[in-house]
Amino acid sequence: MELDHSLGRNTLIQHFGEEEKIMGAVAPPIFQNSLFVFDKMDDLLDAMANNPAGEPHHYSRMSNPSVDLIEKKLALLEGTDCCKVLGCGQAALTMAVMSCVQQGAHIICVDTAYGPLINLVTDYLARFGVTHTLVLGNDVNEIIDAIRPETTCIYLESPSSLVFRLQDMETIAKVARERGITTVCDNTYNTPLHMQPHKLGIDIVCHSATKYLGGHSDITAGVLCTDKDRMEKILRSEVNLLGSILHPFQSWLLNRSLRTLPLRLKQHEATGNTVATWLEGRTEIAKVNHISLNSYPQRELYLKLMTGSGGLFSFETVQQDPVKVKAFVDALKIFQRGVSWGGFESLVVSLNVKPMGFEESKWLVRLFCGLEDASDLIADLEQALPLLH
Ligand SMILES: *Cc1c(COP(=O)(O)O)cnc(C)c1O
Repeated sequence: MELDHSLGRNTLIQHFGEEEKIMGAVAPPIFQNSLFVFDKMDDLLDAMANNPAGEPHHYSRMSNPSVDLIEKKLALLEGTDCCKVLGCGQAALTMAVMSCVQQGAHIICVDTAYGPLINLVTDYLARFGVTHTLVLGNDVNEIIDAIRPETTCIYLESPSSLVFRLQDMETIAKVARERGITTVCDNTYNTPLHMQPHKLGIDIVCHSATKYLGGHSDITAGVLCTDKDRMEKILRSEVNLLGSILHPFQSWLLNRSLRTLPLRLKQHEATGNTVATWLEGRTEIAKVNHISLNSYPQRELYLKLMTGSGGLFSFETVQQDPVKVKAFVDALKIFQRGVSWGGFESLVVSLNVKPMGFEESKWLVRLFCGLEDASDLIADLEQALPLLH
């Protein structure tokens, strides 16, 4: 019997979709098979025609019980009818955008969205006659002004994962719905525990599950959540044609990771806030971009749309000499130099960026606070900060 959806989120994360115990196994087994066979040819043809994904399963590119389990759980958490897990986050973003454009369509996209997604919109899709407008995203009127008769997609990422700008999802979704424009958002930073964009009106919600959802830096995975009609179309076209599915073992690992997501996220958030607050008090630091600081410029919107923050943030150093910024980053011992985030380990990258709204390019340092002790992370930063003098 399916668990009551009104149970607490922690309970649902542990047990939803796992009610039926296969041979009594308390942790679900892995269905490591590429296909499913049928007694009657007609039953196979029927499954293929009427059920591209889901039971009865016929081919693991379309669906598999180990994959289904995690999809049902994630759809419940995001508050959507359906979810598809994919081989990586970028696959989810690409499929979401491709599902709502055709030749001649126009996309509005926040300019601080994930880099490869920007490449998809500005380079790859341009080859097929899709045009775009990049926007800053923090003013709804800027987005309304960018809408054209051929606009079919508004792409958001809130907060962006470098300068941490927020968009007013709720108002933008309302404007888009009135005009029949599909909204897509990358919810990787928030996870469904801190924001549920679909409940704010967003049509397609995506994640890189390589980050918090996976949480252990041992899998790449992506998530695409949406309503039933839209998912049916995406399954028959983008998923079926582009592939990039998540495999059974990776899905099983993702389910294992989800069990501790609420605990991990709380810890990342607490440590992130402690470290960001400490950095804000240092003279070597010009500005800290962490969404839950009192100094954060869009604090009201943060409190309105989200129920928490996290361990990822960036800061601007007073010292902008690239040699010194790199020396500082290289001197860190617990923060390791690496591009990803959301795992157990603390990470650092320094980047020279010039997003819309910046008059000149600047060196930013982005930190991800892992699950180590906050006091050790602060001591690590403290021993390296003199290199910024
Ligand atoms: C990492 C990341 C992605 C891409 O996900 P992959 O799993 O690496 O393909 C997309 N959006 C954000 C915000 C990310 O941090």
